[in-house]
Amino acid sequence: MAEKFQAVVIGGGPGGYVCAIRLAQLGLKTACIESRGSLGGTCLNVGCIPSKSLLNLSEEFHKAQNLSSKGIETGEVKLNLSKMMKNKDKAVTILTKGVEFLLKKNKVTYFKGTGSFKSKNEILIKDDKNKESLVETDNVIIATGSVPVSLPGVEFDEKIIISSTGALKLDQVPKKMVIVGGGYIGLEMGSVWSRLGAEVHVVEFLDHITPGMDKEISSEFMKILKKQGISFHMKHKVEKIKKNKSGAIVSTKDMDGRSKNFECDAVLISVGRKPNTANLNLEKVGIDLDEKKRIKTDKNFKTNQSNIYAIGDVIVGPMLAHKAEDEGIAVAENIVGQSGHVNYDTIPGVIYTTPEVASIGKTEEQLKELKIKYKIGKFSFMANSRAKAIDDAEGFVKILADEKTDKVLGAHLIGPHAGELIAEIGVAMEFGASSEDIARTCHAHPTFSEAVKEAALSVDKRAIHS
Ligand code: FAD
Ligand code: NAD
Repeated sequence: MAEKFQAVVIGGGPGGYVCAIRLAQLGLKTACIESRGSLGGTCLNVGCIPSKSLLNLSEEFHKAQNLSSKGIETGEVKLNLSKMMKNKDKAVTILTKGVEFLLKKNKVTYFKGTGSFKSKNEILIKDDKNKESLVETDNVIIATGSVPVSLPGVEFDEKIIISSTGALKLDQVPKKMVIVGGGYIGLEMGSVWSRLGAEVHVVEFLDHITPGMDKEISSEFMKILKKQGISFHMKHKVEKIKKNKSGAIVSTKDMDGRSKNFECDAVLISVGRKPNTANLNLEKVGIDLDEKKRIKTDKNFKTNQSNIYAIGDVIVGPMLAHKAEDEGIAVAENIVGQSGHVNYDTIPGVIYTTPEVASIGKTEEQLKELKIKYKIGKFSFMANSRAKAIDDAEGFVKILADEKTDKVLGAHLIGPHAGELIAEIGVAMEFGASSEDIARTCHAHPTFSEAVKEAALSVDKRAIHS
């Protein structure tokens, strides 16, 4: 007899496991099915967590090499890459085991295996030994995430032609690394390997990096990364990637038709990710997909089948862990008749390079397109006393507020701890705050957050320290 549940979540990533916990909190008998053998999804296993571990460790290595200029004498600083990788793996193991504990604590049944639809109310689970079991359920939540895309005709071998997964576990530092795509993954992983000693070349199709980000921040970001030694080849299209004895040759063409060949030890292809709907047997239940093969849902995350929902990277929207988590909570609340909701206007995006880049709400370009009149407040970390005191003063805070009402419409930061500072603006925006509300809030001195207050003051042209 098939075990019966009120809700079955397929996928144990930040969307899926958070959704399963919330469903169980709300009193539903819940199961979560995960195929990779450990919980936490892309984010904990091969995404957010291992990349942030390597970003931190490589930054420490880089800083340690420059300590003598700050009056701290050390011996020779040497890299032990395998130990660094073990540290990263330890962080992943601790966190994925932690999620398993949380599922148990909340009485969610965890099935290790691949879930697929037998019918609208029956899910088949196949484990890694091909053993099959069946569960019955009232509701299904699809949270199967996304996978990296490659270029046409180019296959990942995860040693020379690598996706982000390969870039997180190289066993030696490539002498020369080509990165195709100047987005989140390319710039984070490019920073890691550049700090560890690789010569890094980013080949980008557009004339700017991090498309969709406020243009002023994006150009400042590129300037800073160039100073750090990363080379950029903008408006370049990759024509061919051919492996040779020791690595690969990447052939590119620019907009004027000029060709260039890059010989390198490794090529990271980071041109985006695609929704993961393979193995679900969606045809069986007739789930509608959109033009990008994402699962189509309504604003309550319901698919065209009334008991089947989808959340996270597998549906429309930014492919971010916190977006998936918030959708997981909202859909669980909707299933029990509450009013789950995600405010897509206040989802922050953070790039964890040095300096960090963080963004929320509308960019200047979007406001212009929407014909919304706005005021700008800007404040440089060069004038922030905490940043100056620790010699970490690159970047600025930019706040965009409605010209008439002063309501904060967006904020874009590049600088120390930008990824933490953005949370204050997120709360302000959720409360419909004006820039004056932020400006009149007392901020501790000396902190980086004073740069946010000063940028808010600067919206009304009354910054004190610039
Ligand atoms: P996923 O995390 O992809 O989880 C889906 C899970 O479903 C997977 O574990 C998969 O094995 C499982 N699955 C798939 N099909 C089946 C099936 N049929 N049966 C059972 N299980 C199945 N986002 C951030 O917000 N911050 C970051 O710093 C960040 N860094 C990143 C760094 C890298 C290198 C990468 C690649 C991504 C990063 N992301 C980051 C993006 C983030 O990882 C994703 O947005 C997030 O993991 C999406 O969550 P999800 O639950 O929708 O899907
Ligand atoms: P991305 O969408 O961030 O960037 C892809 C880049 O590749 C773009 O700049 C695009 O113009 C460029 N590009 C596309 N096709 C190209 C081609 N043929 N030649 C050259 N350039 C090309 O994608 P990504 O970096 O692969 O990351 C995927 C997703 O993972 C991100 O969108 C993000 O949602 C998530 N992620 C988030 C974080 C974070 O939150 N810190 C970190 C890593 C990944």
